Amino acid sequence: MEDTIIRPTKITIIPESNRGKPWFEDGTLILMTADMAFKVYKGMVGRHSSVLREMCENGVVEEVVEGCPAIQLDDSTADLSHFLTVIHECERAFQLNSKRDFMALIGVLRIATKYNAHVLRQRALLPLQRIYPTRISEWDEAFESNSMLWHLDSVTVVNVARELSALSVLPAAMAFLANSTLAQEAFGVSILQTQPLRFAPGLLSAEDLKAFALMKEYNHLCIAKTLRFIREEGKERHGPCQRLHTGDGCFSKVTGMFLTLSMVVATSDAPAGYPSFVITAQAVLQREEVCRSCRDRLDVGLDKRRRGWWRGLPEALGFSGWDDARLR
Ligand SMILES: [Zn+2]
Repeated sequence: MEDTIIRPTKITIIPESNRGKPWFEDGTLILMTADMAFKVYKGMVGRHSSVLREMCENGVVEEVVEGCPAIQLDDSTADLSHFLTVIHECERAFQLNSKRDFMALIGVLRIATKYNAHVLRQRALLPLQRIYPTRISEWDEAFESNSMLWHLDSVTVVNVARELSALSVLPAAMAFLANSTLAQEAFGVSILQTQPLRFAPGLLSAEDLKAFALMKEYNHLCIAKTLRFIREEGKERHGPCQRLHTGDGCFSKVTGMFLTLSMVVATSDAPAGYPSFVITAQAVLQREEVCRSCRDRLDVGLDKRRRGWWRGLPEALGFSGWDDARLR
């Protein structure tokens, strides 16, 4: 008969101050970080994370704490707390209404990816994909409604997208960054010093600094292309123009619009991003007294170029297009 080796177990009690949230008195598993312990349900954790389930089954458990098997993890206490809370309160939808929600969401995403909790990862990605979408209609909604986009830390989003292979949010996050970010914020070198810095320089990886520079150039080329379109429109008299018969067709107004917008770009003391430029162009067009027919024609032309800008975004970043498998 084989000897049964009985491993001496240390019965440890976790002091109140080191009990994290969630802590269920009748929990069946203790997960520990460097400074906090969480008492949770083994079955619940295992159902979401194949990696943690295997750790429980394959003898990583060495200690008995609070009467339960315990596993020491090297994750951040805050990230793990958010992840375990979400697992145990499954019905709660992910919130993304504040910076605090944002940090919690990133924490869940990080742990869910590491421990292969696929469903949770998808759920945590959804609110981010709504703000950094892959469709122009959703981008318009996020950008024009002056919504969360402005308050989130796009640099963190870019870094998280790379770290966790969640590349679908990368083009929109980079487009947002390149629209308004100063070189000083990205590179730490200064050309313009008219605005306060919103984040410290040096946070982007070398790869993303390159992508950032490419986006800036892409924006510039798209602005030039749109300006050329308006200039061409101002060169000719259009048959359907309802003001032609009065002798002062709209074309001179359109040339005025071209000059106004060129001046805006040339004299701006802030980075000129394409999304902001289009909003300015639309506002200038609204102000000009052109006839309905010319206004419609310009609207359509502007929108066509704006859609072209969006379509080309992924390629400017080295992807093959929006249908690149890495962006799904
Ligand atoms: Zn007209």
